[in-house]
Parts: sequence; structure tokens; C-alpha cells
Amino acid sequence: MKAFFDDRQWHHDPKHFMSNGVVQPNPEQPARIEMLHSGAVSAGCRFEAPQDAGLGPIAAIHSPEYLTFLQNIYKRWQYIDGGGEEVIPNIHPANRSDSYPRSAVGQAGYHQADTACPIAEGTWEAAYWSAQSAISGADSLIDGGQSAYVLSRPPGHHAFGDLAGGFCFLNNSAIAAERLRAKGLRPAILDVDVHHGNGTQGIFYNRDDVLTVSLHADPERFYPFFWGHAHERGAGAGLGYNLNLPLARGTKDADFLKTLDSALARVQAFGADAVVIALGLDTYIDDPFKGLAVTTEGFGRIGAAVAGLGVPTLLVQEGGYLCDELGENLTSVLSGFQGA
Ligand SMILES: [Zn+2]
Repeated sequence: MKAFFDDRQWHHDPKHFMSNGVVQPNPEQPARIEMLHSGAVSAGCRFEAPQDAGLGPIAAIHSPEYLTFLQNIYKRWQYIDGGGEEVIPNIHPANRSDSYPRSAVGQAGYHQADTACPIAEGTWEAAYWSAQSAISGADSLIDGGQSAYVLSRPPGHHAFGDLAGGFCFLNNSAIAAERLRAKGLRPAILDVDVHHGNGTQGIFYNRDDVLTVSLHADPERFYPFFWGHAHERGAGAGLGYNLNLPLARGTKDADFLKTLDSALARVQAFGADAVVIALGLDTYIDDPFKGLAVTTEGFGRIGAAVAGLGVPTLLVQEGGYLCDELGENLTSVLSGFQGA
């Protein structure tokens, strides 16, 4: 199948994030690219660079205020006397309806949900091209392709319309789904990352034209904590168009796949004629985040189950962190998908 990636996506190289009160190396490392790329090639993917579709399809999801922030904040940060090498917030508004300050520090707190999304010199460029890869992937389906893989890194599913978080800046899966919808399709987003796709849920929460479904480790005791609970079903016109399927920590292949069946049934009940898979590989048993316990073989079965939908499918990379089997797990999903 076709696959999309741009070399400028290497330019985001985050250094820090804070976990449990300890400053640690950021897990969303550029080295992921190499492993994912070779994993996709092993499954027969043929990579091409994306077209530049411009800011329009990105601005269909993200506010102009936020996009201005992402493009300019690193430069502005350099004027802070004694400021750090990365834009990392140290204060947040109690409510997002509170006032919007002019200060770079204040705006960082407004637009960055946590310390896992530091912004440095190459961040905007990398996020922009990661989104363009997703847009080109969506366009390949619009042009009649049955499937495509997007090596979208930095990932996207924790990014809301005006809020970065959890290694994510631009919501690649949401941007791709909106692109499909704008061309007259009826897309569903199915998120199989170990973390709930809170940004994706937030973006479409009041809408009935894009279904959002997420399987993830139960957020009662797992990031992103404040979202991903089963009672969150959408609101207004979107009520009933969001489905969360939280799983107990340590859930293994058999139970994951059983829950995936309910997710797929909902996608079918929506009448989706295209699906975006928010493809996290961090459900893996030996992923550093240790949330669930999917095996390499299990990933192949996930790929096959998704293929059973029989609709054009865009597989958009989300999480999955450095471990020996990262590439192999991607090969397994994509091979399982193609073999089914
Ligand atoms: Zn994740």
C-alpha cells in the first residue's frame, strides 16, 4: 500500500517532559521514525512525500489563534530573559474561558495542556508536514485508493482544536477525517492507541457527521485522566456519536479483540464509507507506557479485524514508543490488514 512521510518531520526533537515530578527525556523521539519506516517497508509499503495542501485543511480543525501561536511561540520565547531551550508551560488557566493574555508564558499555558509537548525550533515545521502526510493519505483514498499508511510523527490524537498535549500538536487523524468529510464521505475515526484520543473526541464532540470511537486503558488511573470515560457519549447534535471503550490495565489480546468487535460494529452502524484508524502501537505488552498487553501477533489480528470493515481505510500513526519490537508490531498490523 501507499505510505506518506516527509523528511521535515525529523525536525521536531523534544528533550524534556515531566513525569511524576521528575524531569525525564521525552519519549516521543525522532528515532521512532526509523523503526516505523522500516516496519512499514517490511509490510510492503511504498513511501512517497506528501503534497503541500496548504494551511486550509489544518485550519478546518484548528483555530487561527492556536495556529499563530504554534508558528511563532518558539521565536517569541527567545526574548524571555533566562528562558529555557523549549517552550514548556508552568501555569494553566483554571478554565479555558478565562482571559487570553499577551504574554508568551501565559499563552503557552493556554495552548499546552501538559509538559509532554515542548515546542522548539523545528516543531511547527515537523507538525505541519506530519499533518500534510495525513492529508495526502486522505487524498489517496479520495482518488480511489483502498488503503494507505501515514507515518504521522509527531502524532496528533491528544491535540484539541486549540490545545497541544501528550506529544501532539496538530490532530492528524481529525484533519484527515475532515478532509474525507469535505469531499462527501462519511468517515469514522477508530482509535486503538493505549491512551484515549481526547483531542479527537473534543474536536468532534458536538458533531454527528464524524463518528469517534476509542479503545484505551481506563483513564481512571491513566493518561489523559479527564477524558475517555464510558459515559462521555457526545453532546448536542453529537450525542451518541462518540463511543469510549475503556479497558482494564493489562488487558490481553483476546479481550482487546472482543472489545474491538463492538467498536467495529458501531462503525458499521454509523454507515461509515471510510475509516481513519488512529494507530497507536503503545498497547504493546512491552511498550514503555505499560498500559495494556497486546502482543505482536495480536497486532496482526487487529489489522485483519479492521480490514473486515471492507471500506477505504487510512492508517494514521499515533503512539508506540521505543522498544525493540516497535517496527515489527507495525509490520504485523499492516500485514494482517493486507492479508485479510
Ligand atoms: Zn498513546
